[in-house]
Amino acid sequence: MAVLEKIVIANRGEIALRILRACHAMGIKTVALHSTVDRNLKHVAMADESVCIGPAAATDSYLNVPAIIAATEVTDAVAIHPGYGFLAENADFAERAEQSGFIFIGPRPETIRLMGDKVSAIKAMREAGVPCVPGSDGPLSEDSQECARIAREVGYPVIIKASAGGGGRGMRVVNTEAHLHNALQLTRQEAATAFGDPTVYLEKFLENPRHIEIQVVADEHGNAIHLGERDCSSQRRHQKVIEEAPAPGITPEQRHEIGMSCVEACKRIGYRGAGTFEFLYDNGRFYFIEMNTRIQVEHPVTERITGVDLVREQILVAAGLPLSHTQDEISIRGHAIECRINAEDPVTFMPSPGLVEGFHAPGGPGIRTETHIYDGYRVPPNYDSMIGKIIAHGEDREMAIARMRVALDEMVLNGIKSNVPLHKWFLWDRGFLKGGFNIHYLEKRIEERNG
Ligand code: ADP
Repeated sequence: MAVLEKIVIANRGEIALRILRACHAMGIKTVALHSTVDRNLKHVAMADESVCIGPAAATDSYLNVPAIIAATEVTDAVAIHPGYGFLAENADFAERAEQSGFIFIGPRPETIRLMGDKVSAIKAMREAGVPCVPGSDGPLSEDSQECARIAREVGYPVIIKASAGGGGRGMRVVNTEAHLHNALQLTRQEAATAFGDPTVYLEKFLENPRHIEIQVVADEHGNAIHLGERDCSSQRRHQKVIEEAPAPGITPEQRHEIGMSCVEACKRIGYRGAGTFEFLYDNGRFYFIEMNTRIQVEHPVTERITGVDLVREQILVAAGLPLSHTQDEISIRGHAIECRINAEDPVTFMPSPGLVEGFHAPGGPGIRTETHIYDGYRVPPNYDSMIGKIIAHGEDREMAIARMRVALDEMVLNGIKSNVPLHKWFLWDRGFLKGGFNIHYLEKRIEERNG
């Protein structure tokens, strides 16, 4: 008998397909929830059942909590997988699902709430011994003298951040004391309007860090393990473009130390499911910035180097079973890189939805393609422009890159524009080939290229 009878997939696109595949491989039945424009998604055709939950606008469908709960009820499903984005980190939704008698495939609602508020997350992490960015150690008071004193102590430049912020919004860098007061007021106002909470805090602004994150998975029996790190420094406008694992230059000792501090933190807060601790890495040191309490887009690079099926683990843990692996059983093999494929103009980055008039997915040794698109599929304009991802694995970084180049050349994607040319260009970039560059590097190279 399957660990869970039937799971509702409350998401779309490639991650919905990924979840469906994991479910079917475990003998679990699936219900695909979709909007009116998403009737033709691949996983909708493959699911055991499907329910249309509303019109194209995400607020009316993929964020429509009553419709999702009702669809779970009428299909007799026992659990809901939220994927990433949409309701994945919405504590109220997780609570509603549980109150309605369903299993939410993710952490407990209290944990999502704790880690969703940045001030409380940082406090919890400091107490657990996870290294954080030097800063105000809590919300800033209304007293400007006090704020100025803290900023001086931390040392300029500093960054003011909204505690309830997300998606790269609600942050402001301040270079000198003269600008502090104004910046505080603006960020507070913005935070109140955008997130309904004016609470802000302050951190040292790290000028040229790398983005390195630790993947964890934990169960309800007190077990937690880490699966090493990913380097996600290839970014444009705070959006990840390429991810890789392991991170170039990180030693096994560093991995062990930071990984085990995340494991300890998981145990301390009673974490359940898959999660990611995001760090900025500067001058050989890790600084925690936030935790993602869900599966991430880039999870396959970790799967590739560890052999662990993360979505399967999420489901097992949600069913109350223990993790399939102990920390001692986790080892890293080779190197993996992921290129996110977006339906967008490779030069202007404008979204490019429309009809796919020819598609061939690359294959061969070490290549994994995760996408929901197919020949004749129409990419709707209503959602995120990511239409898939290619993951290349090799015995070392060089081999992974070489395989990725072949895969990108082999892929056929006609009818819509994509960022494939950007990937092809960056995979030959000298700084990229060297590895270990900071989060501004890709953007700087794009600017230089565009002259
Ligand atoms: P969000 O939840 O909006 O994604 P994060 O706290 O994860 O916010 O920060 C998003 C990005 O902002 C980081 O990836 C980094 O590029 C930048 N950033 C955040 N905090 C700092 C800091 N202390 N120093 C330098 N850059 C930072």
